[in-house]
Amino acid sequence: MVQESGKRKKPNILVTGTPGTGKTTTCTALAEAIEFHHINVGELVKEKNLHDGWDDELDCYVLNEDLVCDELEDVMEAGGNIVDYHGCDFFPERWFDCVVVLQTDNTILYDRLSRRGYKDSKLSNNIECEIFQVLLEEAKESYQEDKVIGLKSDTIEDISRNVATLTDWVRNWPCPSQR
Ligand code: ADP
Ligand code: MN
Repeated sequence: MVQESGKRKKPNILVTGTPGTGKTTTCTALAEAIEFHHINVGELVKEKNLHDGWDDELDCYVLNEDLVCDELEDVMEAGGNIVDYHGCDFFPERWFDCVVVLQTDNTILYDRLSRRGYKDSKLSNNIECEIFQVLLEEAKESYQEDKVIGLKSDTIEDISRNVATLTDWVRNWPCPSQR
């Protein structure tokens, strides 16, 4: 396989997971630790109107995948990005050197999402998504398996540990066999 990340001086990391698993909290801390750009795709979609309207059923914007990918192409090519989104199957595979799937215990996640004020159907959809490990499966289907890593995100200590793990990973990138 062609090592397409070869042109980048810094890696790109995708942080995905069910809403509420701590993507934005983790990405914010990690971006500060390693001085990477944090790209919150949900916010970007709202700001730049990269959507096809509001989905009443799912209670969220219908993201336009082509618009999002066009918007991000140049910045991703440069490297040094942490992308934060609750989906991962529509980004070009070549963009990412590491795909992190955050995972949270169901009861903890339930509390976080209730606190966020999610309505019942949205809440149960997301809890189900976490129970069935939908994002982990999606990541494994969309990226080389050795790039995908599941990380527990139940407590504040988990966040610190995950940030430390990813900081180490970035400092050691590219891995010795690719140098
Ligand atoms: P996401 O971006 O995945 O939807 P957030 O980072 O916004 O998740 O986190 C949702 C809420 O849960 C926030 O109030 C955050 O402080 C809390 N939270 C997230 N991850 C953890 C964790 N590992 N331990 C404790 N609280 C967390
Ligand atoms: Mn978020």
